[in-house]
Amino acid sequence: MASESVKVVVRCRPLNDREKALNCKMVVSIDSSHCQCFIEKPGASEEPPKQFTFDGTYYMNHSTEQIYNEIVYPLVEGVTEGYNGTIFAYGQTGSGKSFTMQGVLDPPSQRGIIPRAFEHIFETIQCAENTKFLVRASYLEIYKEEIRDLLAKDTKQKMELKEHPERGVYVRDLSMHTVHSVGECERIMDQGWRNRSVGYTLMNKDSSRSHSIFTIHLEICNTDAAGEEHLRAGKLNLVDLAGSERQSKTGATGDRLQEATKINLSLSALGNVISALVDGRSKHIPYRDSKLTRLLQDSLGGNTRTLMVACLSPADNNYEESISTLRYANRAK
Ligand code: ADP
Repeated sequence: MASESVKVVVRCRPLNDREKALNCKMVVSIDSSHCQCFIEKPGASEEPPKQFTFDGTYYMNHSTEQIYNEIVYPLVEGVTEGYNGTIFAYGQTGSGKSFTMQGVLDPPSQRGIIPRAFEHIFETIQCAENTKFLVRASYLEIYKEEIRDLLAKDTKQKMELKEHPERGVYVRDLSMHTVHSVGECERIMDQGWRNRSVGYTLMNKDSSRSHSIFTIHLEICNTDAAGEEHLRAGKLNLVDLAGSERQSKTGATGDRLQEATKINLSLSALGNVISALVDGRSKHIPYRDSKLTRLLQDSLGGNTRTLMVACLSPADNNYEESISTLRYANRAK
């Protein structure tokens, strides 16, 4: 069960202009047909490259369209049938998380996982017979272990995490927005995106220092041949994780250092939960260790599907970050 419900893929982007200008060497290589990823330690040519195997490995010649069709499609299909699904992008800032999740318009094959998932859901709704759907969206941010509603009138207000015997863990007063089309979904997402806490690090001025969760909640009402109605609910969590880079490289001090420590804590809590789920033998899944894992408790493990896309830079100067991303991803599979 566990290995079926959690999938991990790796995506390595091309060298960027900065890396080219610095004459960086490529240390990552991919064998997609065997789902393998190799990484060489810079300046250690006598050492064999380290090898990792995942549920899929993608290189600079691969498109998001391909990743969607091969790995994301069944997860989103499950959501339209009433299961919960969660998609994460993990990796250091600048490794391609937004490129993979939000994507670009040109070329069309590189449109992101998020707009593709919206389209997938609304196409399913349009084609469904004897079934009515209610689609709602929510969007929240976890910043320094505090939750804010990115779609609320007052996005500065701190929200409370609550636990209910039947409902499970939820955010009190989180706003829910009914959506009828892909366009409406995209507008809501853009609106929330602009309300995020953005910090400046040396690596990338737009570096995201918060985790955000955009959730599509589906209520599915199916009428059977006898005219009876059956209700089901599924949800899709699209999680944009903060950059996984360590503080030393980002030049963080003071407030920024405190922020980075919290980011690292919640990423490691997430890693611990996923690896306990994958392991399948642990009786205790440490959901309670961070807000991120508490919130996603009903969408990680059990009857749900989880996908982690681990994003990598191929450059030698990012070796330490890349190997740490690969180790993190390797624990999750
Ligand atoms: P992150 O969200 O992890 O901080 P981005 O997605 O913003 O990183 O990627 C950093 C830069 O690299 C962007 O300019 C993006 O367009 C480019 N990039 C990332 N992945 C790819 C890819 N697979 N192919 C081409 N360009 C990419």
